[in-house]
Amino acid sequence: MRFGTSYFGNRMLKHARKDLEELKSQGFEIILHTYSENDFQFYRKTMKDLVEMSKDMGFEVWIDPWGWGGIFGGEAYSGFLQMNMEEAQLSNRGKRKGSVCFNSEKFRHLMKEWIDAVKEAGADVVFWDEPHFHEYQSTTFPHEWTCRCERCQIIFNERYNYNIPVEYNDDVSEFRSTSILDFFKDLTSYASEKGLRNSLCFLPEESDQLGIKNYRMFVELEAIDDIGSDPYWIVFNKPLESFVKEVTDRVVKLAKEYGKTDHMWIQAFRIPKGRENEILKAWKTMEECGVSTILFWGIDACSHMSSIASEDPGKVWKIVLDIVNGRVK
Ligand SMILES: [Zn+2]
Repeated sequence: MRFGTSYFGNRMLKHARKDLEELKSQGFEIILHTYSENDFQFYRKTMKDLVEMSKDMGFEVWIDPWGWGGIFGGEAYSGFLQMNMEEAQLSNRGKRKGSVCFNSEKFRHLMKEWIDAVKEAGADVVFWDEPHFHEYQSTTFPHEWTCRCERCQIIFNERYNYNIPVEYNDDVSEFRSTSILDFFKDLTSYASEKGLRNSLCFLPEESDQLGIKNYRMFVELEAIDDIGSDPYWIVFNKPLESFVKEVTDRVVKLAKEYGKTDHMWIQAFRIPKGRENEILKAWKTMEECGVSTILFWGIDACSHMSSIASEDPGKVWKIVLDIVNGRVK
């Protein structure tokens, strides 16, 4: 079993060195660095130094397009959307949304420049974090949906030989899936050509609403090397064991079927007081399902980020370290 954690909230290398050395000594083998649009614009050289430092310490380095375009997971805003509002997803009710259109060539171009920076930094893996369409409440979707922008209208018309409808139908559903698929075909093959590995982390639900209604068509992509998911039982308010088992089983089986490697994330943020030991249960469940790599989100149980901090981060992190160190069986 390999273990990893995410690292974020600090761009000061002298502090990062201390943190990373500690993580290494505790037995973590993988470090995931978030690499937001803000980092890309203002910290490109710093990120390179951070990745180099991590590699020198012997970590495998995963890089996360944190919050990019509003279509990836992460607590980071999109400067691209701010500057290019016409590239945003357009709802069938004519409203622009805070998520970029998967068919935006301009956005794909920027992401390829980012992949160049990830390569130049010397990272190992591009970690595609929870890609999704603009998220609606279940009471709103599919009465309202995206994307019906000018680009999508043209592509839809070419593919289905009629104008993209206003009301949701099966063709729209399929079109949304294939829009994400096209996006990944393009970007993962670009990263792969550069010698980077691609890891795709699915939201823990195959859902029409979020745009990926079947993991399988993504796992089939040749340039995808690794798949995973993040069944955060407290965030999604689900029963721990059945939820974690169901999602882990699905990922492990698909990975095996297509000869890919697998990973899973354990929630180590926003853990309420008194529920810390649930982390042990999640880990045991994943281990029984046979997953090869487990990562924790995130460092120090996110004590440094108030919006997602655990109530007793010290206790949460101690449990995480006990698992990584092999002090609990
Ligand atoms: Zn669109």
